[in-house]
Amino acid sequence: GFNCGIVGLPNVGKSTLFNALTQTVAAQAANYPFCTIEPNVGRVAVPDPRLQVLSRIGKSQKIVPTSLEFVDIAGLVRGASKGEGLGNQFLGNIREVDAIVHVLRCFEDGDVTHVEGSVDPLRDMEIIETELMLADLDSLEKRVPALQKKARGNDKEAAQQLSLIETLIPVLQEGRAARTAVPKGEEMAASRLGLMTTKPVLYVCNVEEANAAEGNAHSAKVLEFAKANNAKAVVVSAAIEAEIAQMDEADRKEFLEGLGLSDSGLDRVIRAGHDLLGLITYFTVGPKETRAWTITRGMTAPQAAGVIHGDFERGFIAAETIAYDDYVALNGEGGAKDAGKMRVEGKSYVVKDGDVMLFRFNV
Ligand code: GDP
Repeated sequence: GFNCGIVGLPNVGKSTLFNALTQTVAAQAANYPFCTIEPNVGRVAVPDPRLQVLSRIGKSQKIVPTSLEFVDIAGLVRGASKGEGLGNQFLGNIREVDAIVHVLRCFEDGDVTHVEGSVDPLRDMEIIETELMLADLDSLEKRVPALQKKARGNDKEAAQQLSLIETLIPVLQEGRAARTAVPKGEEMAASRLGLMTTKPVLYVCNVEEANAAEGNAHSAKVLEFAKANNAKAVVVSAAIEAEIAQMDEADRKEFLEGLGLSDSGLDRVIRAGHDLLGLITYFTVGPKETRAWTITRGMTAPQAAGVIHGDFERGFIAAETIAYDDYVALNGEGGAKDAGKMRVEGKSYVVKDGDVMLFRFNV
């Protein structure tokens, strides 16, 4: 499975957000820096309104959404890369996640201590990202001597890795994330370096309840920064999310409407996390269940089938495929078939987001 690590300075609302996401009390939110020391892991359903539509048409007994894992990584502080505030342990936890959800405090609340003394999300962002860059720089520099030795011994792979590392070191020294300078075609090689600043990042602006709909001046700065830097950002109020996480469907809707919100911020965070990872969804629809499956963009039909079961991939023959829009417009499989909209796709077919698929395979 894929996972997102929730990072940020202490007291920015990470645990509150995590609790809301997972509706657990495991990561106790408290007005106390370093209160969440062990990383907490939670699995959440990825909300997708298409599931309800498909299951109605396909007359399925149940719906099975796809899921995404979130890891609550305790507060990083200035100096983490030098071991401050259990920094090394937290950095180790970040190395293990696929994407970073960076929570930025945009709420003013005199009762909640700010480790830096004032609310300034862009400064906070820079503090955290600097620590991640310093840690990446350190880990790359450590590898240089051994690689140089191997490269001198005509080890081609070592030479290639060394060249990539030598491209990235000056970038990090200039205070830029490694992701901004990975050469085209070397994305895989870069991901194997295990760096933190090559991971995709989503900024979550945590605003107070009253600003949940429009955000505030602090979150506006973050959104502006994200836009200029081709990054993703969402505005939520973690406190509200924690409140509505406990409500049933009907109450939640009424509560959100009362605040002028059309959907829950959590849904936006989860969907953005899913997109961030380059994930797409295909569906299987049958009388038993309508189910969403997560795959990486670019996967072929056999690879997608392999997500359900290894035998489906090994014995793959073909995939009966209907685009989501066709499935809905033509009222299901029968209608789509009659209209010639059910395609029989082979081994090289690249699955598209929303495809409704039925695999034919040999056992
Ligand atoms: P963490 O250290 O980043 O995990 O932060 P927590 O989630 O533990 O939150 C720290 C404190 O800030 C707690 O007292 C929360 O209740 C409070 N808090 C979190 N989000 C909000 C918010 O949106 N508004 C306000 N006023 N307080 C919040």
